Amino acid sequence: MTVRIRAHHLLCMLTYVGKGYTGAFTANYDKIVERLGAGEDMLLVAGPDDICTPLLADKDEHCFGQSVIERDESAEKAVEELLGRPIAPGERLVLDAGKLAELRAAFRTGEIRPACTGCEWHDLCTAIAEGNFPNTRLVIERKLPCP
Ligand code: SF4
Repeated sequence: MTVRIRAHHLLCMLTYVGKGYTGAFTANYDKIVERLGAGEDMLLVAGPDDICTPLLADKDEHCFGQSVIERDESAEKAVEELLGRPIAPGERLVLDAGKLAELRAAFRTGEIRPACTGCEWHDLCTAIAEGNFPNTRLVIERKLPCP
């Protein structure tokens, strides 16, 4: 199985601690981070992804909005620069412990956070990063061999 992910969720999953829009949203999110932790790969998509799914019955939901599309574009550029590989829709990505640590370190410094500008969760995510990501639910222990 593959998890479908929009680019800015590559940032959000770094600080996910079980908080979100609804109970259904966080229950679904919990399953997704568990799958990623177990080694499933990600397929980058444009627009709403598997994390958005519980919200998509409402066609006015922010997941469909232009501002979120711009957030994706900003995250795509920042993560591409950090990891030195394409993050465009259609690309596949597998996280291991090293990549997760690299992403979290760059999130903490703000290097990959231009996409977070104006987000309602900004202060919470900042506090989690400054505390070195306590109680975050995406846990990956495996290490992939160097390419
Ligand atoms: S501030 Fe918003 S966009 Fe940035 S990681 Fe947190 S929830 Fe995601």
